[in-house]
Amino acid sequence: MGVSPVVATGVQPQSNNYKKAKEKLARIHLKVSRQRKDFAVKLAKCVIQSADLIAYEDLQVHNLVKNHKLAKSIGDAAWYQFRCWLEYFGNIYGKVTVAVPPQYTTVDCSSCGRQVKKTLSTRTHKCVCGAQLCRDENAALNILAKSLRTVGHTGIYAWGQNDLCLDLETS
Ligand SMILES: [Zn+2]
Repeated sequence: MGVSPVVATGVQPQSNNYKKAKEKLARIHLKVSRQRKDFAVKLAKCVIQSADLIAYEDLQVHNLVKNHKLAKSIGDAAWYQFRCWLEYFGNIYGKVTVAVPPQYTTVDCSSCGRQVKKTLSTRTHKCVCGAQLCRDENAALNILAKSLRTVGHTGIYAWGQNDLCLDLETS
């Protein structure tokens, strides 16, 4: 979407080659989009089956998807799709999915709560309390701690409304 098929071939609009190129591109788009969906579904199901509680940052993806930078919006759309499947399978398997506010999950020390500022390139969290771990692991621990404290948003599907799952489960 948003990519002109003319760019790929340089052929004349409305010629047979143009139509063929356009159809070919449409098929590629469809294939990639199906592969992305397949991956999101499999990964979400795997994650849900591996834990009783799944916590993640409540990123405002709806706004991000409107972003005009193509690569970024594809990534955001994929993340949003993954999150939807996560909450969907959470409902089916009776697992709790919790979206927590994303603020300070990277900065806070998961051990003592002190704020440790980092640039994007700082990969290790090092705190005066002695905590030293990968920045993503530190953030994950903060997200988990937040999820255990929060009573906020838990999934997008209301409990008791999981009758839509049956056809998908058998496929
Ligand atoms: Zn600390």
